Amino acid sequence: MQFMKKMNVVEIFYSLQGEGANMGKAAVFIRLAGCNFNCDFCDTEWKNGVEMTIEEILHEVKKYPSKMLIWTGGEPTLQLNDEILASFSDFYNCIETNGSKLVPKKIDYISCSPKVSPQTLRKNFDFVDELRFPVKKNDALPEISELPNAKNYFVSPIFYENNFENDKKNAENINFCINFVKSHPKWQLSFQSHKFLKIA
Ligand code: SF4
Repeated sequence: MQFMKKMNVVEIFYSLQGEGANMGKAAVFIRLAGCNFNCDFCDTEWKNGVEMTIEEILHEVKKYPSKMLIWTGGEPTLQLNDEILASFSDFYNCIETNGSKLVPKKIDYISCSPKVSPQTLRKNFDFVDELRFPVKKNDALPEISELPNAKNYFVSPIFYENNFENDKKNAENINFCINFVKSHPKWQLSFQSHKFLKIA
């Protein structure tokens, strides 16, 4: 019956994880369509997907040598659940979520880039592998004591597409994050290396 299920998928591709604690690891990315937010700095195309059966998705991800799957979006928790993940039990399943909804129990690694309050995060998670906050100059960050337990607390400078004006904003965001980490050493810098390396 699981093979009758369909998901709305924007793209499936093989690359290196560009950010966070798994940076540099080879992984298959499954970008699911749909999001419950519409952030002005969003850099992903998540609106238009195609319907794929679970069998078709499995066939696609098995083409690659890595066993690491990264379920991303959009917001993957809008479609992904434990029943679907049962078909992917041979893989190490990671999720990239905005923190607004519960994550399926069968997920092996949670990376949360929060778009909700610390209170909502604490309600939804006892533990998160990594919390990765997108940050621009002068943004206020919560205290770590307000957040769920995590292995890593990252600040990630928001990086806009390059042009003269954005280069200046990018540099300001990067410098702000560097100075923040220097004065708050429980935090760590993550950056979107895929944008510098120009990989997907
Ligand atoms: S939550 Fe993430 S995917 Fe959704 S609009 Fe915001 S940045 Fe984009």
